[in-house]
Amino acid sequence: KISTDQPVIRQLDEAAINRIAAGEVVERPASAVKELVENALDAGARRIDIAIADGGKTLIRVADDGCGITPDQLPLALSRHATSKIDGSDLLDIHSFGFRGEALPSLGAVGRLSITSRAGGHDAAQITVSGGQIGPVKPAALTRGTVVELRDLFYATPARLKFLRTDRAEMQAITDTVKRLAMAEPFVGFILRDVTEKGGEGRVTFRADPETGDLFDALHGRLATVLGAEFAENSLKINAEREGFMLTGYAALPTYSRGSAVAQFLFVNGRPVRDKLLIGALKGAYFDFLSRDRHPAAALFIECDPHLVDVNVHPAKSEVRFRDPGIVRGLIVSALRHALAESGHRASSTVAS
Ligand code: ADP
Ligand code: MG
Repeated sequence: KISTDQPVIRQLDEAAINRIAAGEVVERPASAVKELVENALDAGARRIDIAIADGGKTLIRVADDGCGITPDQLPLALSRHATSKIDGSDLLDIHSFGFRGEALPSLGAVGRLSITSRAGGHDAAQITVSGGQIGPVKPAALTRGTVVELRDLFYATPARLKFLRTDRAEMQAITDTVKRLAMAEPFVGFILRDVTEKGGEGRVTFRADPETGDLFDALHGRLATVLGAEFAENSLKINAEREGFMLTGYAALPTYSRGSAVAQFLFVNGRPVRDKLLIGALKGAYFDFLSRDRHPAAALFIECDPHLVDVNVHPAKSEVRFRDPGIVRGLIVSALRHALAESGHRASSTVAS
């Protein structure tokens, strides 16, 4: 039977909007960790301590020594599209990890979130949000920075909870995310702990102390921490430029390739990306040096004017859009091939003959 009632168009309430957005921003515990660690980095943290229980399903806690949030701003941090990072006039001129003002409200919609923070010259305060319901700002105890605690992720969305993998697999994805961000920020110290076992400080699963020296020293040191000393020692320094694009970093000798792409760390203006164009360029550079089933290992940083690249492609997927992809591809392929040739490495086709 067809209803004769005229449909009524209604505005969704904020809690519903946040839950819908969370579906895009927070796919699994590792995506929540990424958002929280990026916030800590944006706050200028020098040390970031991440504690995880049950693969992030019951607890994700990120503590930083960054600038903090003043008590009066805590409710704003939880409200949608509220950000301290851009003024909204130039979406292409972005220098921070965040800018959408979506992460905290989304996390507050799909888990139990608490933020405890202390900004310079202010008392520490705490705010909680659970299932989209924001509580009052209360006094708290904290010496500096911010502690964000996310408990019971997806308790409000059982369908999403069902799709999570084992604790071990989720912890693996979290570790990978933290390692990528640690590669991006070699001067920042990171500790990742598994606190599933009750009591104590938990088990340290990844630790990177702040690196020192110039950027190449720091990168080399961080590379050794993240991928191993042997890898770092067998990597070639990359430093090239083409038409406004700078390429720096390290690329491993073909003998240090892997069976998968786990050791590919690509960054655009400091942001970890998994971009098809860049991955393809990397593969292209090693084409003559590696058999088809091997994946080159590298940590490469592309820097350019923010107007030459759009990072506002998707809320969670780390894709970017270059205005001129051909230049970027050419830069990567030629710089790496040149470095590999200089190192005296012969192409595999030559070796085979
Ligand atoms: P975005 O990062 O896109 O601005 P978020 O929802 O992740 O949006 O965070 C909202 C705001 O809360 C940020 O713009 C920032 O001002 C503040 N904030 C979040 N996390 C931290 C933190 N760890 N330290 C200081 N301020 C923070
Ligand atoms: Mg953010």
